[in-house]
Amino acid sequence: MPGSWRSVATDYYAVLGVRRDATSEEIKRAYRKLARDLHPDVNPDPIAQERFKEVTVAYEVLSDPQKREIVDLGGDPLAAAGGMAGGNPFAGFGGLGDIMDAFFGAATSRGPRSRVRQGADALIRLDLELAETAFGTTKDLTVDTAVVCETCSGAGTAPGTHPAACDTCGGRGEVQSVQRSFLGQVMTTRPCPSCGGTGTVIPHPCGSCGGDGRVRARRTISVKIPAGVEDGMRIRLSGQGEVGPGGGPAGDLYVEIGERPHDTFSREGDDLHCRVSLPMTAAALGASLSLVTLDGEEQVNVRAGTQPGTVLTLRARGVPHLRGVGRGDLHIHVEVKTPTRVDAEQERLLRELSRLRGEELPASTKAGSGGLFSRMRDAFNGR
Ligand code: ZN
Repeated sequence: MPGSWRSVATDYYAVLGVRRDATSEEIKRAYRKLARDLHPDVNPDPIAQERFKEVTVAYEVLSDPQKREIVDLGGDPLAAAGGMAGGNPFAGFGGLGDIMDAFFGAATSRGPRSRVRQGADALIRLDLELAETAFGTTKDLTVDTAVVCETCSGAGTAPGTHPAACDTCGGRGEVQSVQRSFLGQVMTTRPCPSCGGTGTVIPHPCGSCGGDGRVRARRTISVKIPAGVEDGMRIRLSGQGEVGPGGGPAGDLYVEIGERPHDTFSREGDDLHCRVSLPMTAAALGASLSLVTLDGEEQVNVRAGTQPGTVLTLRARGVPHLRGVGRGDLHIHVEVKTPTRVDAEQERLLRELSRLRGEELPASTKAGSGGLFSRMRDAFNGR
């Protein structure tokens, strides 16, 4: 299903030069090391300053467990702000933007920011049987996310009222101050603390959502699972995540596939494996086995003289490939059971068989008694 799989967003791990499984301590160390080299105090090169911004953003994202989880889902927690590629990468950060402005000066005046923001992504887990991951299915999922407040349609205002200009910033959404810092005297511009940078306040908040423009709600959605998905895969449902503040556009919903273990089959990629135990006699004489595969009951012929560890392969009886055509194979691993207990009649027959086949071993095959082992020893010693 093209378009349903999200491509990888900005690689924050690569920016910091850490592995995807790095601990928070390793991430912190990597950031400190980079910041020491790139800090504008020690490195006035504009490229270094850009790089410093990048690594700081990457650190801010990866040191925040919630944001890091979004990254690990293949999303970009800063997507609403245009990621790191464009726009103001610090929108939505608040505190960090202040720090960066202090370093570099508020080169671009942000002005009042919109009360409406992009919503966050959400994640839900869905456990499926092997037959469902193999052939696909449709499932009803109950999700609990923020949705647009119906009372105010996301505006956050009580019916019949409107937002008013913020007194603290005069509607500009930002306040300026001069501070002394280790960089000297700097002019900082930061979002107005009274209105959160929006330039407006809501004097009469909506009674249903408290002014946020969104409320939590539970709903049931139908999710189509394509054939061939695998444990741990994530399916992205665009715009089914959390609605943002002010009724902003919803983030995406990720459905993570869990595959329950199967009684008979274990899965490796799109191939399936199972074991069957055959009595020694059936392995020697050949047999026809009945096996319930994903496609139903099938007869499997075991040839006469089958050895332990033989693998019988049923082509295209595995899991359908997720993309493209074709299926994996089904591998049947044959175990041969030697009888552990035989009665007198069976023992007589086995001895008779052994004699007929000339396979009677002398009782003196034990080591050191002139049998097989001592003959080998003699051969080595040249006697
Ligand atoms: Zn409301």
